[in-house]
Amino acid sequence: MSVIITYEFDKKTFQYFWELAKMKENKSGVIIIDGFDYWDKLPENFSDPWFKTLCPNYRHLKKEELPEGVEFGTTYKTISINAPKYLEYLLYKFKSLGGTTQCTTVFHLHDCIDSNTDIVINCSGIHARTLGGVEDNDVYAARGQIVIVQLPRSYINWTFERYSGGKGGIDGGGTITYVIPRDNGEVILGGTYEKHNYSTEPDLKEATAIVQRCLSTRSDLLPQDQTNLTIKRNAISFRPCRKGGIRIEAEWISTEKFGKKILICHNYGHGGYGFQSSYGAAQNVIETINKSLSSD
Ligand SMILES: Cc1cc2nc3c(=O)[nH]c(=O)nc-3n(C[C@H](O)[C@H](O)[C@H](O)COP(=O)(O)OP(=O)(O)OC[C@H]3O[C@@H](n4cnc5c(N)ncnc54)[C@H](O)[C@@H]3O)c2cc1C
Repeated sequence: MSVIITYEFDKKTFQYFWELAKMKENKSGVIIIDGFDYWDKLPENFSDPWFKTLCPNYRHLKKEELPEGVEFGTTYKTISINAPKYLEYLLYKFKSLGGTTQCTTVFHLHDCIDSNTDIVINCSGIHARTLGGVEDNDVYAARGQIVIVQLPRSYINWTFERYSGGKGGIDGGGTITYVIPRDNGEVILGGTYEKHNYSTEPDLKEATAIVQRCLSTRSDLLPQDQTNLTIKRNAISFRPCRKGGIRIEAEWISTEKFGKKILICHNYGHGGYGFQSSYGAAQNVIETINKSLSSD
């Protein structure tokens, strides 16, 4: 199984989202905002991230720009994706190009195949662990709890991620706190990163702690005329992680029923960065398929 370094995917994806956000008729739910990364303690051997030259205006924050309790921080221009809206946008594009959809539960890769099938792209996320014909034991979930609040549209045009304890980074241990605004005024407050936890019930104490951590990092999250944040809902979802990272790999399978070989291309294991890597990964899937077709 192949192991892929995602920086190249992320770079292509960022460039794609950046152009999308700048479009005049922007219906994608992608917007350009200011990004801030905060560390309570400057990580040992800190070096500037690979995206330093990709995201405009990257710089270290001055001491007076840091929230209380934060020792080090960086800022840069980035993008925010309203994920449900962006997925609707993609579906609309897919259908307007002639694509059709069918909603069903698949128990085995063979269930995706009929006499008209030539290629199957397997994007089963966390279910790649149990899906027949895949059963990848390296796949596991990292549970994430978030709180969704409603603010006036465009009230904040910034996002932050704060690392307290651990090695820094989303899966570096310690606590992660973040705020991500959407284009419709909804704001995501996070969060947690809990490997191998499959509970679907939100922890209300954790939700309160998340809101407090976000407000104590950036009190300007709360509009001056409000005393509390308006909570819309608590949510739990699962990052589809994989030991060794993303798997993009093609394989031919034979089907006795239809008497032909079918090309399967796997594309799963995107963990906590599946939007961030999406466009570059999709391009790689096409390249992988073309390579397999031409060498058959
Ligand atoms: C709290 C949290 C915060 C996150 N923040 C970010 C972020 O800031 N940036 C970022 O880039 N990413 C983020 N992510 C990660 C991102 O959501 C995932 O990486 C991404 O959704 C993975 O996409 P996917 O299509 O590979 O898998 P999924 O989104 O899991 O989609 C897989 C789909 O396949 C369907 N499916 C699977 N098996 C079957 C079957 N047998 N039959 C029928 N249907 C099936 C599932 O129902 C699902 O719809 C976050 C995730 C969480 C949980």
